[in-house]
Amino acid sequence: NDEVNIIAGALELTKKSVTDVMTKIEDVFMIDINSKLDFDTIAEIQRRGYTRIPVYEGDKTNITHLLNIKDLTLIDPDDKTLLRTVLKFYQHPLIYVFDDLKLDAMLYEFRQGHSHLAVIRRVNSEGEGDPYYENLGVLTLEDVIEEIIQSE
Ligand code: ATP
Ligand code: ATP
Repeated sequence: NDEVNIIAGALELTKKSVTDVMTKIEDVFMIDINSKLDFDTIAEIQRRGYTRIPVYEGDKTNITHLLNIKDLTLIDPDDKTLLRTVLKFYQHPLIYVFDDLKLDAMLYEFRQGHSHLAVIRRVNSEGEGDPYYENLGVLTLEDVIEEIIQSE
């Protein structure tokens, strides 16, 4: 029954890590920090339907900011406002977590209330060069809740 499933789902949180439920980086809808918020850009954001949109600088592995669709409420597409200006105004905190973080710890982080989207990264020390942070994906509070209530 439902109660048993939910309790089982909650217990599973200690065993699963953020990478088990994340949305992979190649599937994340992101926006370039140098974008102008003209009609086409705003229409594309609207069409995708996500509330939280990671912002990257340079290439898509370098996520630096978070845009919330609510931030666009007062934007007039005709002004072609720079995305940078809007980001500077709202300054939403962005949470980065490591790939081995368990879902119970992730839920605790989300409950702190700083953000409902986290970027998952790992230290990549393969290859010749210096180790670097590699972003693997994103996860939201919704992904953790689904894990709790859809467990069988
Ligand atoms: P909300 O429900 O708060 O309006 P939302 O519908 O944008 O937000 P969530 O409900 O938090 O998104 O998450 C739904 C799924 O979409 C989750 O699997 C999450 O990982 C994924 N997701 C969230 N934001 C993005 C994004 N920008 N690009 C791709 N996938 C995303
Ligand atoms: P989000 O967190 O997805 O941006 P939100 O902050 O508008 O959305 P919720 O987080 O869904 O709203 O809800 C927070 C609280 O605000 C809940 O208690 C909800 O019932 C209440 N709430 C949501 N919308 C309204 C509204 N239009 N008027 C009054 N209370 C609302």
